Amino acid sequence: MSRLIVISNRVAAAAGELSAARGGLAVAMSAALRESRGIWFGWSGKQTDSFNGHIDFNRSDGVTTATVELEEQDIDEYYNGYANRTLWPLFHYRVDIAEYERDFADGYQRANDRFARTVFPLIEPDDAVWVQDYHLIPLGNELRQLGVRNRIGFFLHIPWPPRRLLTTLPEAAALVRTMFAYDLVGFHTEEWLQSFCEYASEELGAELIGDRLRLDGAEVRVIAAPIGIDAKEFDVLAGSAAAKETTRWMRESANGREMIIGVDRLDYSKGLEQRFLGYERFLRDNPDERKRVFLLQIAPPSRAAVDSYQRIRASLDEISGRINGAHADLDWVPIRYVNRSYSREVLAGVYRAARIGLVTPLRDGMNLVAKEYVAAQDPEDPGVLILSRFAGAADQLKQALLINPFSAEELADAIRTALAMPLEERIARWRQMKANVDQEDVVWWRKRFVDALMAVEVRSRASRTPVPS
Ligand code: ADP
Repeated sequence: MSRLIVISNRVAAAAGELSAARGGLAVAMSAALRESRGIWFGWSGKQTDSFNGHIDFNRSDGVTTATVELEEQDIDEYYNGYANRTLWPLFHYRVDIAEYERDFADGYQRANDRFARTVFPLIEPDDAVWVQDYHLIPLGNELRQLGVRNRIGFFLHIPWPPRRLLTTLPEAAALVRTMFAYDLVGFHTEEWLQSFCEYASEELGAELIGDRLRLDGAEVRVIAAPIGIDAKEFDVLAGSAAAKETTRWMRESANGREMIIGVDRLDYSKGLEQRFLGYERFLRDNPDERKRVFLLQIAPPSRAAVDSYQRIRASLDEISGRINGAHADLDWVPIRYVNRSYSREVLAGVYRAARIGLVTPLRDGMNLVAKEYVAAQDPEDPGVLILSRFAGAADQLKQALLINPFSAEELADAIRTALAMPLEERIARWRQMKANVDQEDVVWWRKRFVDALMAVEVRSRASRTPVPS
């Protein structure tokens, strides 16, 4: 069995921290790393005065992590800059707020180069390398330039933008060319995969042969592999005393009303403004029903160093305040808006207490909250999932009420439909979704990707040449 080297932007030092920080992904990776006696390499999240390539090794729960610290300029230009101000908005179709700065692009390249040089001595001839996400797109090519001939795979956890949007990025062609250094590139859905293939063939002249793209003698295989949650772990969480206590307590505090739940990192891609406005529309259009419900929106702040995140936070404070001011009564507040994190047990309990799960991102690579909501439901009395058709999860959770999150009317109609949905229909829809969540879980996803990576022919690897960057 080949040793697995996983490389991602962030790695928490201890396995305990890992599962708290990244949930299912950490759990799935940890199992694979433990079995193959592999290494998880990445940034510790800490800052150092000047980058020195010093690796901190940590072993916990049978998993070895190897972390480096980054200097301030890298954090500004690579992480807060190119990753979170340029690629994240662009890849979520927000070209209007994407910032194109050469300093960011240079910092991104520099940090990827530093990651590659630092991890390089850890890679042994039989290892398989698996690079994660948009922070590290050119990393595989950097490794090839250092002479790495191993199998290297890349998985993108966010959407891939349509070709016409991607062409607005000054470095797009160079960036996509570097991806031909990988043996395998994975996306959550066929839609993201097709957008990638379209860019590569139309803009770069790559040739698509089955599931392989060929360009200037290099060949990369592409697959769609939707990530799942750790369904077994989630069942245990949902059955925990803390989860049950939370459900009981939430029901009590609901005071006979139906709860609608939203749980999202505070991010403009999650469609929170549109969600609040759609909910307000429901309140206005349904005067008889409005006091039957309330919306609990849990949204912990993230990426506070980036302006657009400060703006969305201020805007949500304003909208929720206005809606509550306009509609609240002595005994009822329409939106409970909470900006903090909760333990996974408490979240599981909250999901279960909610009659409706509102997951309405404007664009989302997958969206694990949708799957967690399904996993947490009571089989005898499950709630209804209202899901954006622009989330990767909509491909698998087809029995949700699928909506266009840009339309306040569709959102309002879906809330009314969900509240009126008979028990038999709720159960029938939920059963099919639960079967999918259980079957296509995070372990299934990891195996699917790693098996495909291992199946890459050695001959095609040997002919791999780095692309000058
Ligand atoms: P993203 O990766 O864009 O944040 P996902 O829905 O795919 O979106 O994953 C979010 C993860 O973060 C889920 O596992 C969810 O349970 C967790 N999460 C979101 N909000 C909170 C919160 N307030 N407290 C704890 N965990 C949270």
